[in-house]
Amino acid sequence: MKGTKIGSVLLATVLLTGCIKEENYGQALLAGLTLVKAATLKESEVKKTARLSAVELDKKSKIASPSSAYSKRLARITAGLTNVDGLKLNYKVYLNKNVNAFAMPDGTVRVYSGLMDIMPDDQVLAVIGHEIGHVKLQHSYNQMKKQMLTSAAFQAASATSGSVGQISSSQLGALAYKAVNAKFSQTDELQADQYSLSFLRKKGKDPKSMLDVIYTFQKKLGSGGNFLSSHPTNAQRINAIKSKL
Ligand SMILES: [Zn+2]
Repeated sequence: MKGTKIGSVLLATVLLTGCIKEENYGQALLAGLTLVKAATLKESEVKKTARLSAVELDKKSKIASPSSAYSKRLARITAGLTNVDGLKLNYKVYLNKNVNAFAMPDGTVRVYSGLMDIMPDDQVLAVIGHEIGHVKLQHSYNQMKKQMLTSAAFQAASATSGSVGQISSSQLGALAYKAVNAKFSQTDELQADQYSLSFLRKKGKDPKSMLDVIYTFQKKLGSGGNFLSSHPTNAQRINAIKSKL
């Protein structure tokens, strides 16, 4: 028992530093554990893990107070956007200079102040549409599920307790870190861009804002710098968006 526990903690650390191919490690460690199979992992468990992970992330992050200019601005941008196709959304601003934003399968949406600093409101909304797209198109869900299935910590906790609630906060933090830094595939990114276009249209906004987001990235971060993913190039995304406008 003790050996397994230490192994889990070590695995989480190794995965975070990213120096070892996670698939190989996951395979090797999982072979010795009682597997929670993909088929038996319930959607509600994935969402619950996402919610608990989000709570951990919030604890570790500097959250803008509700009375701050950032929070008021985000509330204005997302006014009336509490529910998208049945998904309940909750928003917060992280006071962090990085240009980033993410959404989780439970409806958690976090926007970094660094992103809000370089974009006007319509573009921030377009990014939120893109992130919600990752959730609605199941990209975030599949990522979280994959993390859970390849996490020895999760496997060990499930094997003994049958509940995700038994995972320690540091293990949840590790899962959350992986979820936030997840790289989606090129197809996922292009699909999320498309989702944002229809999201903006439905809201009566100009979908061109999504195109402007890519231009802003290019201008501020250069052609290589792109938080949304390193996979599709800006040019690919611009062409794909333009063809739908
Ligand atoms: Zn994306």
